[in-house]
Amino acid sequence: LGDKLTGVFDNLTGRGALSEKDVSAALREIRVALLEADVALPVVKDFIAKIKDEAVGDKVIKSIKPGQQVVKIVHDGLVEMLGGSLSDDGKEASAISSQLQLAGRPPVAILMAGLQGSGKTTTSGKIAKFLKDRHKKKVLLASLDTRRPAAMEQLGILAEQTGNGFLPIVAGESAVDIAARAMDQGAKGGYDVVFLDTAGRTTIDEELMAEVAEIAAIAKPVETLLVADSLTGQDAVETAKRFHAQLPLTGLVLTRIDGDGRGGAALSMRAVTGLPIKFLGTGEKLDAIEAFDAERLAGRILGQGDIVSLVERASEVLDAKEAERVAKKMEKGTFDLDDLGKQLGQMQKMGGMGGLMKMMPGMGKMKKQLDAAGGVDDKLLKQQQAIILSMTPTERKNPALLKASRKKRIAAGSGMSVQEVNKLLKMHRQMSDMMKKMGKGGMAGMMQAMGG
Ligand code: GDP
Ligand code: MG
Repeated sequence: LGDKLTGVFDNLTGRGALSEKDVSAALREIRVALLEADVALPVVKDFIAKIKDEAVGDKVIKSIKPGQQVVKIVHDGLVEMLGGSLSDDGKEASAISSQLQLAGRPPVAILMAGLQGSGKTTTSGKIAKFLKDRHKKKVLLASLDTRRPAAMEQLGILAEQTGNGFLPIVAGESAVDIAARAMDQGAKGGYDVVFLDTAGRTTIDEELMAEVAEIAAIAKPVETLLVADSLTGQDAVETAKRFHAQLPLTGLVLTRIDGDGRGGAALSMRAVTGLPIKFLGTGEKLDAIEAFDAERLAGRILGQGDIVSLVERASEVLDAKEAERVAKKMEKGTFDLDDLGKQLGQMQKMGGMGGLMKMMPGMGKMKKQLDAAGGVDDKLLKQQQAIILSMTPTERKNPALLKASRKKRIAAGSGMSVQEVNKLLKMHRQMSDMMKKMGKGGMAGMMQAMGG
């Protein structure tokens, strides 16, 4: 999606004046892109209709940079549809707790609902860890998953790992009885928060739904969170709709965002239920949770800093074996000038530095600066490759050999200046330092992902 929209906006931003036809054409492409990102059709229709009036208005068309205005309108429209942006301090990780309404006589209950495997138990552990570590809350974790003893034990392990309380398991008890005991134990034990982690269900099942409703009636939760797997796309939207019809939900948690670059499910879920998205699960580890930030997700949907599209694009042009080889070298920190030359060639195939940088998080700004300073274009890539080609194989393997006289020879051979040779060498040093730092999880991990 990122790619696609970036292309649309490139066309728009490059122009001085914009006709109504231009805007309509761009909106049509945005519509297709949103549908491809798994946003539900009615949601897309509403969205386009809403921004269209604004986008074709006189103010936009007659403005100096109409394309950028349209981008801004689309961006702001997405943010609004996703539930508005967080305050600035909301972007801090500590905003995890500000997403929750915990007022009330302690212990207050947080009820976790959702389909089996959506991430309820994991998310309970993640939020509980946060409340304890950052906010010194005393948290009791209670598993109501009477159907799967292993699920109960899983929560017990999470309680131990996070240093939170765990309601002892009593064999044969019903989920409703466990909820009552949890609230009782929460009060007696002086707990602030009690998590009620409900049973998984594979599909929406009336009996289980009635059970959760009964639990909610007993515990009167301050938060009833529906946990949904973002990878299930439209199904997650349907699930949210069905649960919302039967339970007084207070918010949504979207998990496995680490595996979904599109964010379309989030957009639809929010629009269809009107419920705030409170958290995003970003991995399996206990700290892999983010307070939901509409700005960030809108940026992601618009392809500003969309690393996933970079990876997708890269995988089209990168030879898998080559990627794996380079990844290994990066890990070892033996990324030499030969490798850099190959990388520059790959970058050219991927639309040059400009295309590449636009897709990397945080690089958008840097690209603007570079553009202002004369631009990074494919010409530069070719010049850099020419410099590398003027080196001997030994020099490429061992850049430390490159003293003044060799640099002079290389400059002459490539038709560049010594200064430009130095610039390239500096870039190579910075890249290999960065790669060493990022190690396996960073660039190399990404390259491996492309290869594999
Ligand atoms: P439950 O049945 O709803 O309680 O789901 P679990 O909490 O047991 O999670 C099911 C699986 O999904 C586990 O293997 C979790 O580690 C994994 N999981 C949960 N949340 C995330 C997430 O945000 N990202 C990833 N990659 N895995 C997750
Ligand atoms: Mg569970």
